[in-house]
Amino acid sequence: MNIVLLGAPGAGKGTQAAMMVETWGFPHISTGDILRKAVADATPLGLEAKRYMDAGDLVPDLVVIGLVKSRLSSDDAKKGFILDGFPRTAVQAEALDTELESMGLSIDAAILVSVDSNVLVGRLTARRTCKACGKIFNLQNNAPVDPKVCEVCGGELYQRDDDTVETVSNRLSVYERSTAPLIGYYRDKGVLKEIDGDRAVDAVFADVREIVKG
Ligand code: AMP
Repeated sequence: MNIVLLGAPGAGKGTQAAMMVETWGFPHISTGDILRKAVADATPLGLEAKRYMDAGDLVPDLVVIGLVKSRLSSDDAKKGFILDGFPRTAVQAEALDTELESMGLSIDAAILVSVDSNVLVGRLTARRTCKACGKIFNLQNNAPVDPKVCEVCGGELYQRDDDTVETVSNRLSVYERSTAPLIGYYRDKGVLKEIDGDRAVDAVFADVREIVKG
């Protein structure tokens, strides 16, 4: 199944994507993860992307479209994929459709994880991610015993540079302005599935399961 995960930053897309990967083994294509790796490796792409990411702005369309195209051309993506954090603009959504069409593919479901914006700020600033395995925790509602240690692998937990109060408010405005219009785009195509993301992780995943089992 070819899935797009839609939703504001902090809605829980990454957490649900990780559960989907564990359950069905679809490749998880997260443009944020690809970009953070490039930043950590200090590649030319990472150096260019970092200033946009640190400000909570979007990395230019051409850059992310190129990344996704090359990832989609890998063999494993032919069996289905989860796109997490892409597309984020109308230009990206249209480029994705064109690329998939040329591969004889299309999006089967755009799953919108909805969470009220008041809840998102608290969630984002309380988010901690494991440096080693990528597992996401939340100090408010999914807190590890030790806030600095991953309960899965013992790795070090860190706060993403863009999860600070200052950057979060810009990321949420960018979402409303550039990405929220894609809800209508996928609704018009008849593939939009909206789920309430302001619940326990397992309850949200039960809805995802219904959609994927279809
Ligand atoms: P995320 O992990 O999805 O929240 O992404 C973190 C940051 O990476 C975003 O705030 C953007 O700066 C950048 N980014 C990720 N995906 C995209 C995208 N599809 N288009 C533009 N910028 C992106």
